[in-house]
Amino acid sequence: MPKHNDLEQKALQIIMNTGNDGLSQSELWRRLGASSREGSRIALKLENKGLIRREKELRDGRWTYRLYPKRLPASIDSIADCPCMMCPESPRCSPTGAVTPQNCEKLTDWLLRITGNECKVLGDS
Ligand code: SF4
Repeated sequence: MPKHNDLEQKALQIIMNTGNDGLSQSELWRRLGASSREGSRIALKLENKGLIRREKELRDGRWTYRLYPKRLPASIDSIADCPCMMCPESPRCSPTGAVTPQNCEKLTDWLLRITGNECKVLGDS
């Protein structure tokens, strides 16, 4: 029988792999080969550790929980269009140099765009 920590780790991996879709608690139990009691305990433990969130969901006329990861693994796609990737200033750019990320308009614009704050900061409506 696997140790509790092993099951928690496996459960977290399964939940993270579902991305933004999440999965039902019962599906997690099935994939873990765990009982409903054990599956619930693991889901609660992961939630208490701040690693997942549980949202109540009505499924086939019964209330259950859907489990979502709080963090997703980073992918290379997430930085593919970062301006630093093709920047001619890149060799001279450093935190303490004449060209710095702290004062870079291109980087700031990109960060605002990917976080969806562009309109708020620029005051567009
Ligand atoms: S922070 Fe700005 S200047 Fe520095 S490499 Fe990135 S885009 Fe270029």
